[in-house]
Amino acid sequence: MGFRIILLGPPGSGKGTQAEKLNDDLGLIRLSTGDMLREAVRDQTELGKMAKQYMDKGALVPDDVVIGLIEEKILHIKEGFVLDGFPRTVQQADALRKFADIEHVINLDVDDEELVSRLTKRRSCPDCNVVFHLIYKPPMKDGVCDKCGAALYQRSDDTEETVRARLKVYRDNTFPLIEYYGKQGILVNIDGKGNINEIYEAIEASL
Ligand code: AMP
Repeated sequence: MGFRIILLGPPGSGKGTQAEKLNDDLGLIRLSTGDMLREAVRDQTELGKMAKQYMDKGALVPDDVVIGLIEEKILHIKEGFVLDGFPRTVQQADALRKFADIEHVINLDVDDEELVSRLTKRRSCPDCNVVFHLIYKPPMKDGVCDKCGAALYQRSDDTEETVRARLKVYRDNTFPLIEYYGKQGILVNIDGKGNINEIYEAIEASL
């Protein structure tokens, strides 16, 4: 079994980008509840229809729903994994403890104004979930995913109004996890502002 990692941090702190690098470099499986939920919304499943009502407002989907999604996936993984966007509440973290033994929690620290700028200029791939930024990490060809060639899109929750709501939700619900994992002695704080490769090197050095 490889590393079992949680990437913690507000929306836009670079969790998806760094999880993708951990996947490319170390073969860790990236588990993103946001990606799983967006797929369900696209497929118009019952889960998707329910989740959409929360996601459109920038609110959290109920704990039992996301806990079920992650538990089902984690139990089949043998390579090691990186959790991106889960857990987001203390209840989710408590549930996770019952079915996974986490070794490292990496907290990516970025200030709010930078997050708003990053998220509103973010473009995402609907097929392979790679993320780009119009200024810091533009795709090689305008509007096209470097990895799989699909047309990039702007997530409906990456508008300024919804981003600000998501940042408040983060502060109220997810921020307490920094102390939660700090107390367990498995938390590392990493400055999430700056060069993507340098941030990755800092993460790798902490493992
Ligand atoms: P993300 O792609 O991680 O930014 O997630 C997008 C949206 O999906 C969030 O704003 C929530 O509505 C929902 N979501 C993703 N992960 C979780 C989670 N662990 N708990 C509750 N809601 C989640």
